Amino acid sequence: MPWMETSETGSAPPVDGAQDSEHLSPLHPEVFRFSADMYIRRNALTISTGDHAIHTLALPSSGHPMRVLAAEDNPVFQSMLRTMLTKWGYQAVIARNGTEAWRVLESEDAPRLAVLDWMMPGMDGVEICRRIRSANREPYIYILLLTARTESQDLIEGMDAGADDYLTKPFNAHELRVRLHAGRRILDLQEELLKAREALREQATHDGLTGLLNRTTILEKLDDELSRAARAGTPVSVLMTDLDRFKSINDTCGHLAGDAVLREAARRLKSAARRYDSVGRYGGEEFLVVLPGCDASDAALQAERMREAIGGTPFLLASQPISVTASLGVACVSHCTPEALVREADDALYEAKAQGRNRVVVHAAAYSHAACSTP
Ligand SMILES: [Mg+2]
Repeated sequence: MPWMETSETGSAPPVDGAQDSEHLSPLHPEVFRFSADMYIRRNALTISTGDHAIHTLALPSSGHPMRVLAAEDNPVFQSMLRTMLTKWGYQAVIARNGTEAWRVLESEDAPRLAVLDWMMPGMDGVEICRRIRSANREPYIYILLLTARTESQDLIEGMDAGADDYLTKPFNAHELRVRLHAGRRILDLQEELLKAREALREQATHDGLTGLLNRTTILEKLDDELSRAARAGTPVSVLMTDLDRFKSINDTCGHLAGDAVLREAARRLKSAARRYDSVGRYGGEEFLVVLPGCDASDAALQAERMREAIGGTPFLLASQPISVTASLGVACVSHCTPEALVREADDALYEAKAQGRNRVVVHAAAYSHAACSTP
């Protein structure tokens, strides 16, 4: 028998529930005991008096059991792998040959842990490793290669092809279980790394106070949209939005209140934006909105909607309503540099301020630019 169950021979231990807990030995491998009357077993915390469980609480688990691909062409080994994986709390996905295994690993939500037999019809384990690694996909797939003793001298080849670990058949069940654990730990670490990278990216591209895109990123966004628009012959509009008399809010209510107003204004602008618009914090109380595909009159409508989103309902500061309004400058083009377009929007904004604030002004050039974009 290629796999030897060392300490877990006989029937599988009974599954979760308080009924069977009295019969568990304190040394049972599945039990983590805090004290004589409190222990965790699988996903349940049990508190007992003497021999009787009096309370069992389900502990939050990570949700679905982790899926593990087991690719093995021998039907006897297949069913053993399935039994073991299931017993250890994994969801076994069985592939009967290399081609099936590759199909599973290629799919959108492929299992992230794979046990691959080296010798299989269709495609061998090493070839699968090679393909997975050259696809360089994320999230990472951790691969444990199974080899027969005769193949073990070629292990370097397997590891070079991208396997993370290997087990030589015959092996014992405990060893496989431990190796899978190690693989899981690597995957968990990798996930944390990805999250950290994502958090850094978020930090580098977003404004810390409002959560909107920061100045650099919104300008890059505008640059991208302008290139796209130039290729497609469609217009792009920008709105430069400035909160009116923001300094007096800061002066009379304090900077914390000022920050709260900026956050709320950002939230309102964001919710008034269409799904494909981008909203960024351009400066102190200035926001830049990029509207792809919008000509001057569409942009004027959208600007009006945003003005209303800010000024239409008072902001609440410590339950006190305070009136906040915004002035908006609109510019629109099909061929332009981001700098020139922002300058036009800025000029229009200046005009809106001069005309008494809380209003939208469209730059005079916007309509002629838009006309140019229509062949
Ligand atoms: Mg085989």
